[in-house]
Amino acid sequence: MDKAVALARRMAAGEALTGGELLTLLEQRTAESAEILRAAAVETARKTFGNRVYLRGLIEFTNYCKNDCYYCGIRCSNQKAERYRLTPEVILACCDAGYDLGFRTFVLQGGEDSWWTDDKLCSLIAAIKENHPDCALTLSIGERSRDSYAALKQAGADRYLLRHETANACHYRRLHPPALKLENRIRCLYDLKDLGYQVGAGMMVGAPGQTLANLVEDLQFLQKLQPHMVGMGPFLRHRDTPFANEPDGSAELTLYLLSMVRLLLPKVLLPATTALGTVLEGGRERGILHGANVVMPNLSPADVRSKYLLYHDKLATGAESANGLAQLRRNLKAIGYEAVVARGDAPTL
Ligand code: SAH
Repeated sequence: MDKAVALARRMAAGEALTGGELLTLLEQRTAESAEILRAAAVETARKTFGNRVYLRGLIEFTNYCKNDCYYCGIRCSNQKAERYRLTPEVILACCDAGYDLGFRTFVLQGGEDSWWTDDKLCSLIAAIKENHPDCALTLSIGERSRDSYAALKQAGADRYLLRHETANACHYRRLHPPALKLENRIRCLYDLKDLGYQVGAGMMVGAPGQTLANLVEDLQFLQKLQPHMVGMGPFLRHRDTPFANEPDGSAELTLYLLSMVRLLLPKVLLPATTALGTVLEGGRERGILHGANVVMPNLSPADVRSKYLLYHDKLATGAESANGLAQLRRNLKAIGYEAVVARGDAPTL
């Protein structure tokens, strides 16, 4: 029998595979091994989450960034990026609108923007939590000091998304300027966990220079970190970055990895990402059908949505309108899932 199929069956049965075996499962993957993993991943997600899909309202609140990540469209060297920063009033209005639509988690994501000091962020967080005490608040604003993470937590933030991007130091250097170090990224993740945040890590699939062995390192890193969430989508090129001519990551490999992550971390919160929705028609639904259980529609105001361009042709349709969300709910319903009005906290690990 084909090796990947045998390994997929073992993984589906809950057996732990060695690094070498995970690599073979990736290298020699076939439609059949993919289907075995997919079916087992869906079953595993159902055991914890039933047919419920959690919604997160994504608010891209600033695209100013002091970093210069080679893959990212809002890197500081990109002179063509039209910079914007939402005011606290606009952000609060986004949350109010999102609340009325049924969102109970808001995700504030942005570049590393020094204008947003701890004090300003803390006031914003406190105001959001005061207006919506029954909602969870997730931050995704990059690397900060432990003290800063502690202050933001104290102000009311519940969760933090900080993808590790790649667990291989050499590959990390291929994607980032020398000032950014894998070591620090990992320090941040452990600090966040230690401070009591629900933490999300993750990687881009098909990032330039990435090997399948690197992805095995990512999977092993995730197993070690035991994050509450894993954000994973395909790399997509942006024309005004050094990676303008690199090939996009594959949707097929992303789906395969979603299933693997679901089996490795059965209770993890796993979004079907915007990037997956961008490369693949119906990508979000396909993600759910490969073991994902979260979707993060965009709640940013329409006039700035086209400016938060991490990559090309980013899906800009969101749930900002009642119509958009109703459509998403219908699409999920059509595949047997229900988008629920709930905070959707991480189940206890
Ligand atoms: N500044 C924050 C938020 C970054 S944007 C931080 O540092 O965490 C969120 C994620 O988008 C990044 O972590 C990265 O994995 C992803 N991303 C950035 N550029 C991308 C691209 N070109 N293709 C696909 N994903 C990308």
